[in-house]
Amino acid sequence: MKIGILSRNRKLYSTRRLVEAAELRGHEVRVIDALKCYMNITANEPNVYYQKSEGTVEALRFDAVIPRIGASITAYGCAVLRQFEVANVYSINESIAITRSRDKLRAHQLLARKGIGQPVTSYAHSAKATNAIIESVGGAPLIVKLTQSTQGNGVLLAETKKAAEALINAFHGIGSDFLVQEFIKEAGGSDIRCFVVGGKVIAAMQRKAAKGEYRSNLHRGGTAEVIRLTPAERSLALNAAKVMGLDLAGVDILRSSHGPLVIEVNSSPGLEGIETATGIDVAGKIIEYIEKDSKLGPNKPVGKG
Ligand code: ADP
Ligand code: MG
Repeated sequence: MKIGILSRNRKLYSTRRLVEAAELRGHEVRVIDALKCYMNITANEPNVYYQKSEGTVEALRFDAVIPRIGASITAYGCAVLRQFEVANVYSINESIAITRSRDKLRAHQLLARKGIGQPVTSYAHSAKATNAIIESVGGAPLIVKLTQSTQGNGVLLAETKKAAEALINAFHGIGSDFLVQEFIKEAGGSDIRCFVVGGKVIAAMQRKAAKGEYRSNLHRGGTAEVIRLTPAERSLALNAAKVMGLDLAGVDILRSSHGPLVIEVNSSPGLEGIETATGIDVAGKIIEYIEKDSKLGPNKPVGKG
């Protein structure tokens, strides 16, 4: 097959591994920077064009694309991906599903509609609602989370009610979009990353936050090890990926005193942490799935919203 990987950086571990795994299985692979693509939107011959370094332009032809769209270019990256979809090219994740997953509020709402367990989460526009939203998540300590946060950067712990009010008011003041969330203290700075491919959890790891840190992101010095999922955790992860309409997803779960809770569904989960922690050939499994699934034709968008 001709496979295109939409990634801005061919040197990233995940990109390199996907290239390697695809070549190993006899495919022709190219890494494409979405920002160098452009498109003409016509019904007749929809195409994605690529500007090559020597200045020439070519129409891209792929049998399948693997989107690895960074959070900083979600809008344009998804527009390019959508154009591939217009041209009937298979993508392991559809643009609509990626867009859903990038907005934490939208994602929580979609998951809530299907009864998926999550930490109690509140959202308000008016600064007058500050007290009410603090109360609604059970008071401090609580988490204030930017809706576009990645790598734990926009996730803040307010230990007291005063700190929570100050944070919420500051975020209102600068016009940021954020959620207020129940703090799952008993998770103890750990979370579980379930790597879902095509309706199966193919690998799972537990991430532990560095000392004195409540965020377990590996980018923040967290460490990872293999973990056995309970049946409830496995089915929660699969349901969450399904509700979001993602064939490839990293579903993050917290172990709370009232059962497993989904905090995030990631549409471009990194491969380095999970392959290193589990020794599983995740890249190979992704390519293998694409070989099978793309035979069924281009993906059909799943769900609403
Ligand atoms: P990001 O997209 O920035 O990674 P997450 O929602 O995944 O944001 O949060 C980052 C980390 O912070 C999580 O992996 C988890 O360790 C911790 N965390 C997030 N939400 C909560 C919560 N409600 N209670 C306890 N810890 C949390
Ligand atoms: Mg996360």
